[in-house]
Amino acid sequence: MRVTAAFNRLLALPGTTVREVSFEPARITVTVALRRRRLVCADCSYSARARYDTRTVNSCWRHLDLGRFRLVVVARLRRVDCPTHGVRTEGVPFARPESGFTRDFEDLVAWLATRMDKTAVTQLVRIAWQTVGAICARVVVDGLDPDRLDQLFEIGVDEVSWRKGHRYLTLVTDHRSGKVVWGAEGKDTATLDRFFAELGADRSARLAAVSTDMGPAFLRSLAKPGHAAQATVCIDPFHVVKLATDALDQVRRQVWNQLRAVDPAKAKTFKGARWVLLKRPEHLSDTQAATLRKLRRHGGAAWRAYGLKEALREVFAGDLAPSQATELLDRWCAKASRSRLAPFVTLAGSSPAAPTGSTQPRLRSRW
Ligand SMILES: [Zn+2]
Repeated sequence: MRVTAAFNRLLALPGTTVREVSFEPARITVTVALRRRRLVCADCSYSARARYDTRTVNSCWRHLDLGRFRLVVVARLRRVDCPTHGVRTEGVPFARPESGFTRDFEDLVAWLATRMDKTAVTQLVRIAWQTVGAICARVVVDGLDPDRLDQLFEIGVDEVSWRKGHRYLTLVTDHRSGKVVWGAEGKDTATLDRFFAELGADRSARLAAVSTDMGPAFLRSLAKPGHAAQATVCIDPFHVVKLATDALDQVRRQVWNQLRAVDPAKAKTFKGARWVLLKRPEHLSDTQAATLRKLRRHGGAAWRAYGLKEALREVFAGDLAPSQATELLDRWCAKASRSRLAPFVTLAGSSPAAPTGSTQPRLRSRW
């Protein structure tokens, strides 16, 4: 078999014929020609018979290594005049637009990136650290389901942080499929506005429920006309329970400060109480469980606050019917507002019917 024919079969790059293969000490260069006559825009499906001009553009892509050889694919491309994208170099079936790597190479890098850290990938495939990120971004965009925003009825909006909380991403999840359907950098009203701009008024009008945290930024965007003003805003149980946990921590701190003033020795025995109170009882170590028993014997405000936190957590455990949960939540609010524990009175003492799009966290509002 001739070398070009062998490489044709070996590389199996779609839509191409190998014209020439040249060997260098550490590199193989494979020159290919596109089989199709028509020119296709790299960014859309526009195709034309006529080229824009006679100028050709030499392009090259790195392909999967062949043993110890680095493999480079070279092609001479024509230019096409796309009505949408203007004059551009024609697209090729074996590589993504604007990429210096073949699809096979990029798919491998993206797969590796889900299984090992970025540094390991850079060493294994010998590419720069930033290139791994750029490749992953291209592969993800390419693999996105174009219909992913079509059937959204119940969604969740949440923020995640990275770089120790200095950078944020806003993510939108489809609760029916459990999949993330949209994401963008940032965590403010404008970030979520971009999601609704992409979703459009028609699809936004079909949203029945949106779960979110209690931050005013997302609520402000949800309430805007054409967004999700008609949808029920559900506060994520995690965030509700966190409010009670924060209230409990305030009570604990007051109690401890008072105790330390009158009986420093006793205050010391409650060292570590913070984590004991905040943790779920089933996750406590033996020592922590002993501290919890001590706190129970001591009783008082901290113990009552702990009881309230745990009771609220039970309401949101997910095993109650909506009517039971509503009833228990009402009872919880009544109990908390009578508790004489200031942080809990504040938490429970909000009006029962908050207007849509209210930016205040109100426990009794929208269940
Ligand atoms: Zn185009």
